[in-house]
Amino acid sequence: MDKKELLATLKTDVAAAHLPLKDTATNLVFGKGNPDAKILFIGEAPGANEDLQGLPFVGAAGKQLDQLLHLIGLCIDDVYIANILKYRPPDNRNPSVEEIRTHTPYLVKQIELIQPKVIVTLGNFATKFVLAKFSVDEMKSVGGIMSLHGKEQHLMIDAHDYLIFPVFHPAAILYNPQLRETLTLDFKKLGELLRSA
Ligand code: URA
Repeated sequence: MDKKELLATLKTDVAAAHLPLKDTATNLVFGKGNPDAKILFIGEAPGANEDLQGLPFVGAAGKQLDQLLHLIGLCIDDVYIANILKYRPPDNRNPSVEEIRTHTPYLVKQIELIQPKVIVTLGNFATKFVLAKFSVDEMKSVGGIMSLHGKEQHLMIDAHDYLIFPVFHPAAILYNPQLRETLTLDFKKLGELLRSA
C-alpha cells in the first residue's frame, strides 16, 4: 500500500474510534494535502468551518495559512496539514489534556506514515506536543511559542531526525494584527531554510 492508501485506512480507524468530542462534532477532520510531502504542518483543532467541511484550515485561519504558504512559494500539494485534535472542541475552547492524550496517537501514526523531514508547528499546543517528543506528560516542561517561534530545532524521535520549526498559529494574527509581521518573517525564514535544506 502507498502512503495515500495507508492514510485512508488510518482515517477509517479514527472514524471508528470512540474519541472524546466525537459526539458534539459534525465531522472528523483528519488531514489534507500530499501524503508524500516532506513538510508537515500541525495545527491545534478544527474550528466551525473545518467541522462542517471535514477538512483542516478551510476557514479564516486557513486563508491566512494559504497566504503564508504562497508567500514562500508553497501550495497545498507541497505539504500535508493535520491537527492535534481530530474533532472540534465546542466553542473552539482549548484542548484538554485528556483530549490531547486520546487524539494524538493518531497524529503520531500520521507522522510515522508520512515521514516528513520538516514539521512546522502552528501555535502552543502543537509546538509543545512535538518538542515534548510526542509525550503529553512532558508538554508542560517545554517552553511556549513566544520564546520558541522562528527557531529551528533538530529532534531525534524513534531514530528519525526531524527539523522542527515552531511558528505562531495563523489564527493569532486575526485577533492580534501585530503578530502578522512576526509570522511573515518566520515564514520567510522557513522558506530560506527549506531552500537550503
Ligand atoms: N485552527 C487549527 O488549528 N486547525 C484547523 O484546522 C483550523 C483552525
